[in-house]
Amino acid sequence: MTATVGIPPAVTEETAAFWEAAAEGRLLVERCAGCGAESFPPYGMCRACRSRAVEHVEITGRGHVYSFTVNYQRWMPGLEVPYALVLVEWADHPGVRVFGRLRGCPPEDAAVGMTVEVGFEPGPGGYAVPSFVAVADVGDGIGGTGDGGE
Ligand SMILES: [Zn+2]
Repeated sequence: MTATVGIPPAVTEETAAFWEAAAEGRLLVERCAGCGAESFPPYGMCRACRSRAVEHVEITGRGHVYSFTVNYQRWMPGLEVPYALVLVEWADHPGVRVFGRLRGCPPEDAAVGMTVEVGFEPGPGGYAVPSFVAVADVGDGIGGTGDGGE
């Protein structure tokens, strides 16, 4: 797979752990040792209580698309369009939402509530950047479908 086009990230003391884990295909978010709040992107400080005692937790489960946008504009040479960018949240990681490219389905199939898995792909500057892979929903859809009888 070719690297996505764009501007390489500015790696700081606060974000170094995130990028190191990303290179291994792991998605880390910050969790406050004081109040337990989780947040993304890494900031080195709890957004809820301003404690600097933040640790990292890995997100491994499937998430759901909270919002999305489809880009048709070729902002840079070599940028393949259209593509969908999704904002993903996880039921077991409240407060965390991560933005990334949607893969595994046509951009026009992007939808709020769709199930995705975290994937990484080579990005600008050789950094692995988070993206999301569409997962075909098995059985009933997201919420409110009742007992699911046949
Ligand atoms: Zn906190």
